[in-house]
Amino acid sequence: MTDKLFPWTKAQIEAIAAEYPTPFYLYDERGLREQARQLNAAFSWNPSFKEYFAVKATPNPAILRVLHEEGCGTDCSSLAELVLSEKVGIGGEEIMFTSNNTPAEEFQKARALGAIINLDDLAHLDFLERVAGLPEMLSFRYNPGPLRTGNAIIGDPREAKFGLTRPQLFEAYRRARDKGVARFGLHTMVVSNELSHAALLETARMMFELAVELSTTLDIRIELINIGGGIGIAYRPEQPAVDLQALGEAIRSVYAATISAHGLDPIRLCMECGRLITGPHGFLITRVRHLKDTYKRYIGLDATMADLMRPALYGAYHHLTVLGKEAQPADQIYDVTGSLCENNDKFAIDRPLPDVAVGDVVAIHDAGAHGHSMGFNYNGKLRAAELLWRLDGSVQLIRRRETLDDYFRTLRFPGAEW
Ligand SMILES: *Cc1c(COP(=O)(O)O)cnc(C)c1O
Repeated sequence: MTDKLFPWTKAQIEAIAAEYPTPFYLYDERGLREQARQLNAAFSWNPSFKEYFAVKATPNPAILRVLHEEGCGTDCSSLAELVLSEKVGIGGEEIMFTSNNTPAEEFQKARALGAIINLDDLAHLDFLERVAGLPEMLSFRYNPGPLRTGNAIIGDPREAKFGLTRPQLFEAYRRARDKGVARFGLHTMVVSNELSHAALLETARMMFELAVELSTTLDIRIELINIGGGIGIAYRPEQPAVDLQALGEAIRSVYAATISAHGLDPIRLCMECGRLITGPHGFLITRVRHLKDTYKRYIGLDATMADLMRPALYGAYHHLTVLGKEAQPADQIYDVTGSLCENNDKFAIDRPLPDVAVGDVVAIHDAGAHGHSMGFNYNGKLRAAELLWRLDGSVQLIRRRETLDDYFRTLRFPGAEW
C-alpha cells in the first residue's frame, strides 16, 4: 500500500493559484532530493554508482540542477536534452547519450560535450566515426530479443526498435576495439514502469553475465554497466513501491557472484531512471470548471490530456485528490475529463470521488515524469506553467504558461495580426 497523500494544504495551493492560475505543474524539491538520495544509498556498495536522470521525463533545467546537486548526471536522447544539460553545467561523462536513429549533429554535440555515447546500432559505429570521430570510450545498447519478455509499456524486445542483437553486440565491441576504442560501457533498457523486483534483478543478472562473456571472449575491459531506467512507481494506492534498499542488496549479491567472481571488479554500475525520481514528486494542479450529468456524471477540469496524456495513451491510472475533501467518503462515481474534442480526453473513468463542486481544486498525482514533457498543443491548448516548491517553502516559477502569442508565433500569414 502507498499512501497517496498530497503534501500541501488547500489554502497553500489556493495562495499559489491566486498568482499562477490553474492548471499548473507543481514539483516538490524535498521529495526529488530524497528520492535521488534513496537510490544512491541503495547502490552505495558500488562506489562509483551513478544515476543518469532521464531528461525526457522532466526536461526542466531547474529540476536537473536539483538532481545534479544530488549527484545525478543526465541521460539524453536528443539535441535539446544535450543543450539543457549544458546550460545546467553538466558535461563530460556526467552525460550519457542514449539515442536512436541519431542525426549527425546530435552525435557532434554529444562529442563536443564529452558525453558517454551509447550506440543503438552496429552501423552507427562507422557513422559516428565519419561525422564526429570516435571517442576514447563507447557503450552499446543490448536488445536481448527472445531472451527476455519485456513488459506491457515497452513491449516484447523482439518488437522493439532499440539496441543490437547478441551477435551484433559481440561484433560491435570487436570492431570498436580494433578501431582503437579503449574504454567500454554496456547498456540495456528492457523494462518500463516495472514494479517487479524479480524482473529488475533479472536485467542486472543478464547484464553482468554478458559483461563477463564480452570481457573474456574479446579481451576488453567493460568499465561501466548501465542497466537502464524503468523502475516503476506505485501509481495506484494498493500498489507497493519498489523497495530500493532490498533491490540494491539483491543486485549486490548477483554482482558478487558474477563480476567479482570473475575478477572484473570494480565496474561502475549505472542507471538512468526518470519516472522513479520525479514521477511521485510532481502534481498537475487543476480546477473543476463544469459538472455535467448525462448518461454518466462528468467532472470537467481546466486541464486536458494535452497537459497529461498518460491516461489517454496507456489507460494509465493517476490518483486524484480533491483538495479539502480528503476526509470525505469517496461515494460518488465520475468520469473526469478535459475540454479536447476527443472522447479519450479523460483523466479517469468511473472513479469514486467525494462529492465535487465547481471551483474545487483537484491534484493529479504522480505527474512529475512523462507529464508536462509529453504535452502538446492540440485544439490550441496552451502548455501549463511549472512551479517548484523549494526546500524553504517558497514557490519558484520554473516555466511560465504558454500564451496565444507563443502558439501563433510560428505561423506565416501575411497581413494578419494575431
Ligand atoms: C525513457 C528512457 C529512460 C527512462 O525511463 P523511466 O521509465 O522514466 O525510468 C531511460 N533510458 C532510456 C534509454 C529511455 O528511453
